[in-house]
Amino acid sequence: MTDVTGTVDRSPVVRISADVTADRGDRVYAAARDATDSVPIVRTGPTGSRKLEPLVLATDGGRTAFFYSASPSDARELATELESGTFPASHADAIVEHDPDTLSLPVPETGPLSVGHRRVLGPCGWIDPLEPADYALCSTEQQDVSVAAETGLLARGRGDAAADKPAVDAWTTARDTEGDPIVVVNAHETDDRQQTDRTLLAGAPIAVLDGVAAVASFVGAKDAVIYLNERETALQQHVRQAVDAAEDALPVVPDIVVGPDEYRAGAPTAALEAMEGADRIEPRLQPPTPAKYGLYGRPTVVHTPRTVAQVQRAIRSPLSFDADAPDPGTRLVTITGDVDAPAIVELDAGTELAVARDAVAMDGSFKMACVGGVFGGITTELDLALTAQSLTAAGLGTDGVVELLNDDRCVVATAGKRARFASQENSGRCVPGREGTKQLTELLRELYQGTFRGDDIRELGRVMARSSNCQIGEYAPRPVVTAIDEFEPEFRVHADGQCPSGTCTTQL
Ligand code: SF4
Repeated sequence: MTDVTGTVDRSPVVRISADVTADRGDRVYAAARDATDSVPIVRTGPTGSRKLEPLVLATDGGRTAFFYSASPSDARELATELESGTFPASHADAIVEHDPDTLSLPVPETGPLSVGHRRVLGPCGWIDPLEPADYALCSTEQQDVSVAAETGLLARGRGDAAADKPAVDAWTTARDTEGDPIVVVNAHETDDRQQTDRTLLAGAPIAVLDGVAAVASFVGAKDAVIYLNERETALQQHVRQAVDAAEDALPVVPDIVVGPDEYRAGAPTAALEAMEGADRIEPRLQPPTPAKYGLYGRPTVVHTPRTVAQVQRAIRSPLSFDADAPDPGTRLVTITGDVDAPAIVELDAGTELAVARDAVAMDGSFKMACVGGVFGGITTELDLALTAQSLTAAGLGTDGVVELLNDDRCVVATAGKRARFASQENSGRCVPGREGTKQLTELLRELYQGTFRGDDIRELGRVMARSSNCQIGEYAPRPVVTAIDEFEPEFRVHADGQCPSGTCTTQL
């Protein structure tokens, strides 16, 4: 049982789940509050399934009624019903029976919330994100953080300096390097395809802070920083409130620093440059890794919120991690693209990508997926395990984004836009990144002028992957190269002046 100030101890209770920036969520919350003096109304964070928001949850003991896309008048009506002692079952979209003390969102048997398991995502949408008493925290229970090191957890996300490698290696290096270690949580992302980190920070920020404290404890750091986008003012304020609320419970209280809204500012070492106030944001040359020489030269562990949330989960529930698995724990995936609404699902890493599709409805027929973010790989096959190893072997990205694209999409235009984005967004620091992205864009322009040089594109991709200074240059050719692997005939007919999708009316 949690502290009496926690949401979970209240019954009956109405929860309003929506993103922190959602005005509609605020209006529904205000309407429910106006309707009742006696039933507590709690504003929770997002669940990750945007099409259900604002989601209203009416709970009485171990029973919760779900109301999807609720209006202020819906919220007013059901708060009044609950106040009068009537459980609003008759018009609910779903009703779920559950443990009355659960700290994890109970999920209906059907619909987007039923896909996968809600472990790291569990509190999102259910608890009051700013109420420490709603969390089971490692810090307050003084749990042994070293168990996380034994789980074999791989770090997650493009903003993580140890992405797809055992997180413990970076911790050990930072701990054993001379200097004053620090932990950075890199939540900077300008690509709206990727929503998992901001959802965790909106829905369960104190769990992320608890994970930060655990990593800090392992490496012996007394300082930590949460690094966010400049434009995300509401999220900045929300995280600040979470830090203030949890200050007494946490052994390490992070500072919040924002960086410019540029894609490259989310790369781990570019993030360090931005935090140091550099005028020009460029990824650093490596080695040394940030774990040896990071923020202001200090040994620095740079993780994403996804990674530290998994660390927190690993300490709370080590048995849910199989240290012998190639990629222990779960993977969070944002499903986006030509879909009714983006959704975040949490799946065991061994699950096939295709399962994630059940969380969304596609607009039109499936043609292809881009897996791994803007510089992910294009594929028509979704029968692949979500592990970092399986995705990498298939030439796809591991950044937790599956973009489903319908048959109105032109594969050449889709890949070409990403090449052009890379040529505009790279820092210019290294030749393969700077000149390679220009050449790649030029090779695709030539296609529209009648020349398809597939082998040259592949060779350029190999050189960039091998010699770029950072992952932006390394992965920039991936959409084009994988698209050619799957759709070479479409590239060839473009050189003949035809676009099978009928969408290419202009050049890149
Ligand atoms: S690959 Fe691109 S972004 Fe990375 S250092 Fe080189 S030029 Fe800069």
